[in-house]
Amino acid sequence: MSSDSSNVSPQNRNLRAIARVVGTCGIVLVCCLLGVARGAALDDARPEPNLRLPSTSVSSGLPWKGRLLRAVRLRMSAALAPVAEYARSGNFYGTSELVSMLERTANAIAARWPESQMSVGELSGPHGGKLGGHRSHRNGRDVDVAFFMQDAEGRSSRMDAFVTFNRHGSAPRARGKLFFDDEKNWAMVASMLRDPEARVQYMFVAKSIRARLLREGARHGENEEFLRTAATVMVQPKRGHKHANHFHVRIYCARDDRPQCRDAAPYWPWYEDTQRLLARQSGAQP
Ligand SMILES: [Zn+2]
Repeated sequence: MSSDSSNVSPQNRNLRAIARVVGTCGIVLVCCLLGVARGAALDDARPEPNLRLPSTSVSSGLPWKGRLLRAVRLRMSAALAPVAEYARSGNFYGTSELVSMLERTANAIAARWPESQMSVGELSGPHGGKLGGHRSHRNGRDVDVAFFMQDAEGRSSRMDAFVTFNRHGSAPRARGKLFFDDEKNWAMVASMLRDPEARVQYMFVAKSIRARLLREGARHGENEEFLRTAATVMVQPKRGHKHANHFHVRIYCARDDRPQCRDAAPYWPWYEDTQRLLARQSGAQP
């Protein structure tokens, strides 16, 4: 027995024992609370999910001279479907970055307009390489995307093939005109340009449609800088197909696919890798 306990009454001993238990519990409780608070603080400080972790897919070479390794197949859903004309081709393979961007965009549009469905043409074949009917689309970084359109009553409309729109945004059809859906098409452009993972280099589209989309972006209250980004990225090709019936979207190489994956200029100044790519292009040390 310790000298401490020998000099106190049994009653006091009991009181001290109770105090010790209460004290211990208090300490444990305070520690638990601190732990919870610390956990909460860590939660708050945790960065956004790192969407730029290395992916398994690898885009190799250039969009018009390349291959695709460990491709990811686009998942079709109520929000995303192939244009009927291309459904059988099965060429819906891309890099993880491209496929994720398309799925994210389609889901964002469907969340806002539940009746709508984004339609795509071809991406690349399962291993990339030459793809009939396309000059590029060879390494999983190119995709053709149909325009959203509606009929005269404002109902969403889907067609079996890409539909060509004139500069007034309409397409005469045997069974009534179709109209280019400015709002949904702008939402699609904006979603791709704001994608947290993919970096869009080009959206090839006819001049008249580009103008409609930029007007819609301004009407929608987009800031000047973002409108300039969209104006830069949306381009009517100088030669060949005007792209008045679909977008052709190309994304830059994912960082973890370089140097095997190769981009060609231009490198837009708002992307984080631009200075390094420009330095490499000019032969200077990055
Ligand atoms: Zn294309």
